[in-house]
Amino acid sequence: MTESTTDPKHEVMEAFRDRPVRRRDSGERDELRREKPLGLARSVVEHTARRVEASRELLGRPLFRGDCHSHSQHSDGIGTVAETAEMARAAGLDFQWVTDHWGLTQATECRGHGLWVGQEPGTEHHHLGILGLDRTFTPSMQLAADYASVVEMGGTPYIPHPAGWWPATVYTAEQKNALRRLPDGFMMEIINGAGNLTTAYDYTDAAAVALWDEMLCDGRHIHGLGNTDAHMPNQIGIVWNGVYAPRCDEATILRALRSGRSFASEAPVLDLRVGRTGMGGVIRDRAAAGPLTLRVADVAGLLQVRIVADGKVRRRWHPDGETLLTHEQPLPSYVKRYVRIEAISVDGRRAFSNPVYVR
Ligand SMILES: [Zn+2]
Ligand SMILES: [Zn+2]
Repeated sequence: MTESTTDPKHEVMEAFRDRPVRRRDSGERDELRREKPLGLARSVVEHTARRVEASRELLGRPLFRGDCHSHSQHSDGIGTVAETAEMARAAGLDFQWVTDHWGLTQATECRGHGLWVGQEPGTEHHHLGILGLDRTFTPSMQLAADYASVVEMGGTPYIPHPAGWWPATVYTAEQKNALRRLPDGFMMEIINGAGNLTTAYDYTDAAAVALWDEMLCDGRHIHGLGNTDAHMPNQIGIVWNGVYAPRCDEATILRALRSGRSFASEAPVLDLRVGRTGMGGVIRDRAAAGPLTLRVADVAGLLQVRIVADGKVRRRWHPDGETLLTHEQPLPSYVKRYVRIEAISVDGRRAFSNPVYVR
């Protein structure tokens, strides 16, 4: 017969019964509960930063890396501006925008930490990302009109999470179709990291890419972005934009982004050109365009690289861990409206070039 007991001592292995219980006061424990995941996330992005730096050298092209979308305690983020800055530094980012939802109360603090200041109000059917505007924007709740007002005021608008965001927000067809009212050359996120912790690409991003291809097939010019939408500092650095620009000041980076001279990435670095026309550019005379060249690097190893044109994967490479893939060929006849490239690393991290458009 076993003897039941209510003595809590018997719920602990005998060897541990006389040890003092390792109990921290709750303040210290709360501190640790916050610090530990943040510290681990910092290790992940520091590791990625070293990897991307080496890949960038292999690619052999100077580029800047940064994130156009994050939140702090000035709206519904749980991280402070200082924590955001610390994580952006750890991630090796050259720029980080803090785009709080309700205005610009974060601005002074951001400037003190070298961060750039944006906004993300809600408008009709979508949120509206706003960069480079030093006044608080109050939406009229009409998507196209609000977009136009931001441009008129000198700001740079973009559409965050155009198909919804992880884990469970899925936009309706009506919401997605509203984007067709926006002018050519608008920017929208094709990778949004909201809710994700170490990699950003998920089914909502696959839906954004599908929507992107659909509109590109209609002949629209839309530049893709990769942003964290971090609501906690742990998420900063898991996705970013690689930007081809001569300098890393806010106006120059904005100009490059608006021109589509960037790619969205979780780790691989890449470049795509047709002759002398880079990403975001338009080929007007295909006979004189020159060859299509691509260059993709990831020192962790590439699993797959593919050419997407006019809504279809047209060519696929399986580099099986090779760290650099370069290719050149005449502009293929299947490229009618646009061509873009995608890369996946051996650990599943993705990168998407912006398109070269064909008129
Ligand atoms: Zn949003
Ligand atoms: Zn957001």
